[in-house]
Amino acid sequence: METMTLSQIAGAVGSHCDSDAKINEICIDTRAIKPGCLFVAIRGENFDGHDFIEQAYESGAVGVITSREISGHTGVILVPDTRKALLDLARYYRGLFSVFTVGVTGSVGKTSTKEMIYAILSEDGETLKTEGNLNNEIGMPLTVFRLSHTHKNGVFEMGMSNFGEISALTHVCCPNVGVITNIGVSHMETLGSQENILKAKMEITDSMAPDAPLILNMDDPLLKTVNQMTQQPIMYYGIEDQQAEVTASNIRIINGTTQFTIRYYGQSIEAMVPAVGRHNVYNALAGFCVGLVANMKPEDIVRGIRRYQNAAMRQNISVENGVTVITDCYNASPASMHAAMDVLLHTECEGKRWCVFGDMLELGACSEEAHLEIGKEVGRSRIDGFVCIGEHARNMKRGAAMVGMKQAYYFEDNQKAAAFLAKTLVPGDVVIYKASRGMHLEEVISRVSEEW
Ligand code: ATP
Ligand code: MG
Repeated sequence: METMTLSQIAGAVGSHCDSDAKINEICIDTRAIKPGCLFVAIRGENFDGHDFIEQAYESGAVGVITSREISGHTGVILVPDTRKALLDLARYYRGLFSVFTVGVTGSVGKTSTKEMIYAILSEDGETLKTEGNLNNEIGMPLTVFRLSHTHKNGVFEMGMSNFGEISALTHVCCPNVGVITNIGVSHMETLGSQENILKAKMEITDSMAPDAPLILNMDDPLLKTVNQMTQQPIMYYGIEDQQAEVTASNIRIINGTTQFTIRYYGQSIEAMVPAVGRHNVYNALAGFCVGLVANMKPEDIVRGIRRYQNAAMRQNISVENGVTVITDCYNASPASMHAAMDVLLHTECEGKRWCVFGDMLELGACSEEAHLEIGKEVGRSRIDGFVCIGEHARNMKRGAAMVGMKQAYYFEDNQKAAAFLAKTLVPGDVVIYKASRGMHLEEVISRVSEEW
């Protein structure tokens, strides 16, 4: 972080401060405090940062942002709401830089697309990115504070579960480009309909300049209609819909890579992603659009695409006991379950292809239907065996059985599923594991290994 003074910070959050000390780091966790930092006391689900203010000073903090009055210390910045202050301060800090910023939102594929855009923009100059999945009202400000004058670009992931959240985030990073990957069914519980999910994602434009483009997936039926609801310029990408400005065709899976031809404004270029699956092509197309907006040369953009690195727990491939194990236990939604099936079907296999799917959580009213549909699709595909785990996954098994799949099995919990898989999988088989994070499917993988 570039140095700021406490009085400058106080001004940015609409308060005042008795000290002009210099701050070179913002911290919300007393365990990570460095001397000279500013501690922001945040109330969380389990802890209240205000209870750690004394400790923060003891560890070397020179100031605090607090909503609780404290005495006996200098550098106190009193605000009504410390979360809002963190956002306001990040917005102010972001304003000190003329960095090219990209905001990435959507139901599925935000982190993967953010990593793709990072790989591309890194070919253009030093680029800051959201680490991991720090995509909320805390993670985004902490990412912004890492901006320095050496950065040319920044790419920020924006997550949400309700109205107003993307708006708050876009006010912090003020994107020069907004990317929306797709409109799925996650957060139906809070938002009620896909139209509302779209509206919530469109809040990304709340803090974009009128001429700042939106980059949207044209194969998504709802995103396709956005050109009728905004004045913002739009650049569409697509695979199915070749009307889009940037499209991919001739998609081939070769030796664990995905190769394809990108067409843009009457020209074309070959590209390769070092990962398997059609969803990577979508993410690469979104990144290609961003690269064009950033005035990069197409050759440089595809070089970036080749350097893309998969994030942790998203489709890591290993071989154990002769079985190829694809781990994808980070999260799950209908769109990412499709992506997983696509990966499984395109992975070389001498034996059988097995899908181990657990519950997709937080789907609200459409949960039953969504699980049933995934089950039917697995049943209709060339997948040989299907293991369904969890309460909702019962409907996946039901869907597979409805379309006549014989090798579909249901287990209530990870332990029973692991015992079955350990005795069923044989060398030459390929298995993909996928479920929502809360299902802890990685337990199945480690139990199966233990039993082998
Ligand atoms: P979260 O809401 O948890 O932050 P996210 O939107 O960041 O999720 P990722 O973590 O990138 O999503 O990907 C989640 C899953 O979706 C992974 O299994 C990944 O392989 C798959 N995936 C990635 N990109 C896409 C895409 N464009 N379409 C469908 N599935 C995708
Ligand atoms: Mg994410």
